[in-house]
Amino acid sequence: HASHVFRSDYADVAPVELPIHEAVLGRAVEYGDRPALIDGLDGTTLGYDRLDHFSRRLAAALAAAGVRKGEVLALHSPNSVLFPVVFYAASRCGAAVTTVHPLATEGEFAKQLGDSGARWIVTVSALLDTARAAARQAGGIAEILVCDRAEGHRSVQDLVACTDPEPSVTLDPADDLAVLPYSSGTTGTPKGVMLTHRSIATNLAQLTPLVSSGPDDRVLAVLPFFHIYGLTALMNAPLRNGATVVVLPRFDLRQFLAAIEKHRITAVYVAPPIVLALAKHPLVADYDLSSLRYLVSAAAPLDAELAAACSRRLGLPPVLQAYGMTELSPGTHCVPLDAPNPPPGAVGKLIPNTEMRLVSLATGEDVPPGESGEILIRGPQVMKGYLGRPAETDAMIDPEGWLHTGDVGRADDDGWLYVVDRVKELIKYKGYQVAPADLEALLLGHDAIADAAVIGVVDADGNEVPKAFVVRQRGASLSEDEVIAYVADQVAPYKKVRRVEFLESVPRATTGKILRRELRARERSSTPR
Ligand code: AMP
Repeated sequence: HASHVFRSDYADVAPVELPIHEAVLGRAVEYGDRPALIDGLDGTTLGYDRLDHFSRRLAAALAAAGVRKGEVLALHSPNSVLFPVVFYAASRCGAAVTTVHPLATEGEFAKQLGDSGARWIVTVSALLDTARAAARQAGGIAEILVCDRAEGHRSVQDLVACTDPEPSVTLDPADDLAVLPYSSGTTGTPKGVMLTHRSIATNLAQLTPLVSSGPDDRVLAVLPFFHIYGLTALMNAPLRNGATVVVLPRFDLRQFLAAIEKHRITAVYVAPPIVLALAKHPLVADYDLSSLRYLVSAAAPLDAELAAACSRRLGLPPVLQAYGMTELSPGTHCVPLDAPNPPPGAVGKLIPNTEMRLVSLATGEDVPPGESGEILIRGPQVMKGYLGRPAETDAMIDPEGWLHTGDVGRADDDGWLYVVDRVKELIKYKGYQVAPADLEALLLGHDAIADAAVIGVVDADGNEVPKAFVVRQRGASLSEDEVIAYVADQVAPYKKVRRVEFLESVPRATTGKILRRELRARERSSTPR
């Protein structure tokens, strides 16, 4: 029971009772032909008026094709100027967008299609083979469209000239889904996270008093829009505020630095591996990065020394950390842009309308400032639930509405939060989710493997990487490299097992549950510091 509730220093904001396309594009006409999106590689520019117009025309085409309220459209694309056009068009039809990792294998993609019940796919020609194979495997796909052009498929570039009538759909922002990203949460395999129009639109309003862009900002979108961090911080938020978003399809340090210089970028939102590159890589010195005003890092733990080295080198204010998770639309904490001296290592302060408790892992009691406990969150950004999984939803959100994050935090007297540990299974490789359960299931499918467990371990650069503990079948021969190659063959590259250790047995509770704590302790004691 709640005995110590942490509350935000900020006054409540009004929940946003609008569909996301209205919450974001409501002022697009006012912004006129100011550039909304620029392709960082070829310079293609889309003004606010055309972004709004294209999303309406594409919505008309999608509606004519049969996209209806309550359906699911899978968006399978690297960042591009057309990604938001597709997203807001689907929203105008009342369809939820399930965002797919561009590097997903056909099997991973097919699983997401099947689980989400998607009937539509929008992809790009370079990924079309995977999309087609996934659609065949999953079944039930009415049409595959491409953003660019491919023989035999209708193109978003053509459909934005559609003259059909715009769909007229009435949405209930508090109940209807806008996005259905996939997350493994605290345990198991990826699940569809039901985020309503209201939860993602309100989260934009909640973040605004702490950090917000304006029409003079140029934001660099190198983190993917398919992940809720990119979708919120790099697409919805800046487009709502009239900023210009320069998009890059993938992270390449040289392209990233060149884009900052060329487009006089004012704000970058990154994950810790990019902070590492900015702090240490010699290339950084070759570019003029003086337009930068601030840098935000989220999605994985950031070392305080590294953050300081990065801001020193770039001559920037301290790196602003933010904290959140897909199931929280995603934000709950952020270091305010106007904080004079944010304490090193803090992930931020509670954003408005958000309550937090920290529950001791030892006693189950709420802890006061100074002590650590599992982070529980309550607020309008809490997901509606996992699609079709009431038991998993109930395990995550208790009857009083507190979402149990599986992260361990400590707050100080001034309300700064520090994330100190993670007690859930989830591994984050460069900010991307890797679900141990998926890798364990694959490993157990190998003839020479009797048992297996996967945890995250820290490499020399401080990055988390998946490590497999493997028990060989009696008499079987199997090398570390064979295990790595076997998994790499079947998963998207970011999910690869990168370390292997052979064991006599995997520590399991009598219920069969893997005792990950023991594996983590074993890892700590064998790693020289
Ligand atoms: P995702 O749902 O992919 O955004 O992953 C959410 C998880 O990423 C959180 O539950 C944390 O474990 C981790 N995470 C996000 N932001 C931070 C941060 N600033 N510091 C430490 N861990 C973080």
